[in-house]
Amino acid sequence: MDNWENYVRKVVPYVPGEQPGQASVIKLNTNENPYPPAPGVLRALKAFDVDKLRLYPEPDCKVLVEAIAEYYGLNASQVFVGVGSDDVLAMIFMTFFNSPKPIFFPDITYSFYDVWADMLKIAYEQKPLDEAFLIRKEDYYGENGGVIFPNPNAPTGVLMELSEIEDIVAHNRDVVVVVDEAYIDFGGVSALPLIEKYDNLLIVQTFSKSRSMAGMRIGFAMGNEKLIGYINDVKYSFNSYTLNQTSLALGVEAIRDMAYFESTTRRIIDTREWTKRELQALGFFFCDSKSNFIFAAHRAVPAKQIFEALRKENIYVRYFSKERIKNYLRISIGTQAEMEKLIDFLKRYLAD
Ligand SMILES: *Cc1c(COP(=O)(O)O)cnc(C)c1O
Repeated sequence: MDNWENYVRKVVPYVPGEQPGQASVIKLNTNENPYPPAPGVLRALKAFDVDKLRLYPEPDCKVLVEAIAEYYGLNASQVFVGVGSDDVLAMIFMTFFNSPKPIFFPDITYSFYDVWADMLKIAYEQKPLDEAFLIRKEDYYGENGGVIFPNPNAPTGVLMELSEIEDIVAHNRDVVVVVDEAYIDFGGVSALPLIEKYDNLLIVQTFSKSRSMAGMRIGFAMGNEKLIGYINDVKYSFNSYTLNQTSLALGVEAIRDMAYFESTTRRIIDTREWTKRELQALGFFFCDSKSNFIFAAHRAVPAKQIFEALRKENIYVRYFSKERIKNYLRISIGTQAEMEKLIDFLKRYLAD
């Protein structure tokens, strides 16, 4: 009598943004980078020895861990890599969030946090952003089982000052504080230097956004070597071969090319600032984003209506039906040409 269903781990899964099949779409819905990966990535892919695929990859992902450590001036023992930062974050939840006290994160934030917490049966409290969609540091002072928030926050794009982050970490020395810096390279200041001062701080970053490698699935965490050691223990207890041979080889190329990284992030930032001015002139309002997206609402036209009109034009943006943000669209920053097409369409649409 279907008894087995009583013992299913029932979860409400995270819903990723759509990946439409056609190439003609202007895809501004999942914060991917509109520019190709660094040229060295293509060279390494062409030179890749397919015979290597017979073998398991290095379980410790050494080449990539060392390349990331070198880039950030750390020891390899301070870096953990995983299959996208989603994998890294899930490992972190499993490793550190085991207190009976609830973990804290904002109400409006990356919508994977509550999914992992529910799946892993971790208690949590969501702290409401203030009226201006800012994180209130005081909300994170109370007793908790851990703290996590993105900086800049998603989907608002708002960047927190380093001093405020330090304040949250300093008020939470008995738990692990995780700063998810998926978008930090688009004009933010990383909290990375604080890992030398605070042994309870983890910084998580990804190759998916600023390094144009979402399809490769590479994410990483940086922190005190004790923290990294504990994450590795959980990883080896779950899946010891995480990154595949190609991800390791191509990831190394992506992190080494600093000049390419700086020029593409600069272009995205310039296009973002241009898009802000255009959107504002069209009657949109938004928080001051320091990410590769703008979270915008229109003064007169409901977000859902604009979302559907854009979709008909094959312009994909992200819409969340969640109560507090249901009148906002999250618009990823594409190439300058893509954003010009978006703005041209909105000009025509809003004039009607
Ligand atoms: C995109 C994103 C991630 C996950 O990125 P991966 O592709 O899994 O590396 C994590 N956190 C936030 C806030 C994101 O926006």
